[in-house]
Amino acid sequence: MAVKMPKKVTLSVGETAEVKAVVRPTTATHQRATWQSSDTSIVRLSGFGLANRFVEGTIYGVSPGEAEITATIKEFDVYGSTKNMKTFTDTCIVRVVEPLPEKILIDAGHAFQGNTINHTYNGEGFTYAEGECMWVLQNMLVEELKNLGFINAECLRATNEYVTTQNQNESWRDWQGRENETRGKKATGYDLLIQLHSNSPANVNNTTPDYVVVFYPIDGRNGTQALGEALADAIKTTMEIDSNSIITTDSTPGNPLVEAYAVMRGAQSVNCPRYFLTENSFHTNPRAAHWLTQDDNLQELAKAYAEVIKDHFTS
Ligand SMILES: [Zn+2]
Repeated sequence: MAVKMPKKVTLSVGETAEVKAVVRPTTATHQRATWQSSDTSIVRLSGFGLANRFVEGTIYGVSPGEAEITATIKEFDVYGSTKNMKTFTDTCIVRVVEPLPEKILIDAGHAFQGNTINHTYNGEGFTYAEGECMWVLQNMLVEELKNLGFINAECLRATNEYVTTQNQNESWRDWQGRENETRGKKATGYDLLIQLHSNSPANVNNTTPDYVVVFYPIDGRNGTQALGEALADAIKTTMEIDSNSIITTDSTPGNPLVEAYAVMRGAQSVNCPRYFLTENSFHTNPRAAHWLTQDDNLQELAKAYAEVIKDHFTS
């Protein structure tokens, strides 16, 4: 026999969540599990019941912190005596967070196929795809934001697809501009939009550049310059970059009040209070590109972004 629980559950203070423990085999006569919280000042059990082969426990978030829920099942011998009783347990880490109201939208700049480049790093060949790595990063970032209490954090695109289709006679460049402006407009009603990229120099054969660029709104509204600087700092430190970051704005030539980047222009047009475009170093640089292909690194980067965002909204 065995009992299996989810590894990790995050819930807000004052919220309840169902946790299912699966008892195996399904024919086991003793399906009832007992539940225990390692710290009832953080997470409390508010009941459990049987539903098919699941043992459902309801847990309640009391205060911010981390605690462990343990499910235990007991197997008796054929006579129902406790003499040869065996116990089986599994644990689930429960994180209870203070819910934060801010609505946050994260967008990978491209689709999967965007900007593929072949490299050699430490004698080994690998392919970097900006679209794919930034897609992984956006999902991790939303997850990290939720872990910190931003229950209204989400990816702009749930699937790896553009939100518009290329019109007949429309150049790829024009379409991408329209596509990004449309995506920027999706920040209507959101408190923050970040679009994620890796950079490319004018000369794509120049593999030297390895630094962060963060674009923030041209009017530096709502403390966005400071937030941009904090983001750039966190990316630089996490990616172990030596060169200084560039924190900048970019307006349309001849129109200093209008954003140059289409995604930022879209966000600006719908009065989104904070919007950024981040270049997480250069995909033409083998070191940086290799770094970005490692999921563990991306998870660290996502965590760093999330912590900076939390600091901005809570301090
Ligand atoms: Zn890009």
